[in-house]
Amino acid sequence: MFMEQQIVTIKALDKVTHDVLKIVTEKPNNYNFNPGQATEISINKPAWNDERRPFTFTSLPQDNYLEFTIKTYPSHNGVTNELLQLKVNDELIVHDVFGTIGFGGDGIFIAGGAGVTPFISIFRFLQSKNKIGNNKLIFANKTKADIILKEEFENLLGNNFINVLSDEKVEGYEHGFINELLLKKHINNKEQKFYLCGPEPMMEAIEKQLINLNIDTEMIIKEKF
Ligand SMILES: Cc1cc2nc3c(=O)[nH]c(=O)nc-3n(C[C@H](O)[C@H](O)[C@H](O)COP(=O)(O)OP(=O)(O)OC[C@H]3O[C@@H](n4cnc5c(N)ncnc54)[C@H](O)[C@@H]3O)c2cc1C
Repeated sequence: MFMEQQIVTIKALDKVTHDVLKIVTEKPNNYNFNPGQATEISINKPAWNDERRPFTFTSLPQDNYLEFTIKTYPSHNGVTNELLQLKVNDELIVHDVFGTIGFGGDGIFIAGGAGVTPFISIFRFLQSKNKIGNNKLIFANKTKADIILKEEFENLLGNNFINVLSDEKVEGYEHGFINELLLKKHINNKEQKFYLCGPEPMMEAIEKQLINLNIDTEMIIKEKF
């Protein structure tokens, strides 16, 4: 599908955590994507319509709307701060669809912060097919308040939802950064897929740890945020 750009109207805007916005928009006709994929978004306002930033669809391909789950950085004057100023009926511009993360078999999903967004879409897709199975999510955040869609993941994954908090000690949660020991504890099977998404330093560290644990690099599917 080739599409240069398309203006879509915002239908709903909600906060899902203290700094994460959920934005629902219209969906252009014949606009298709796979769970895990993204598009570039800009804001349809003078001074902003050329500022494109990548965001992942968190709605499902079959939904008749688009949903995005966006961590905002109000401390500097970028696109995500400007998104915080928008209201229902304001417009966004969406572009072509891209992205390397897609579901390629059951496995362990490892996310840092907003790096969980491709996995939101994939887990919702699996649930819609009754195929959540034994997939596991290891989710790293600074504090409990930063966990995106905590309740939804708890309901979807039960004990296969493992939270790791770097800046807060909470009972029942892992504390610190993801490390080899923690991965070893939660990897029940090395012959499965490992999906990685988050900030670059985290991704590099975890990929090394997985390789040290004898995970085949071909089993690692990743995207840097
Ligand atoms: C394929 C892909 C898909 C993505 N999907 C999502 C998604 O679904 N949801 C999501 O939340 N994010 C997603 N991201 C990340 C998102 O694109 C960035 O967070 C966004 O571009 C930031 O835009 P900005 O204009 O607000 O910040 P920019 O001006 O572009 O700033 C870039 C980066 O600088 C850092 N920064 C912000 N404020 C400061 C500051 N005051 N000082 C220093 N550094 C700062 C942030 O880490 C920010 O990401 C995705 C990224 C990629 C590559």
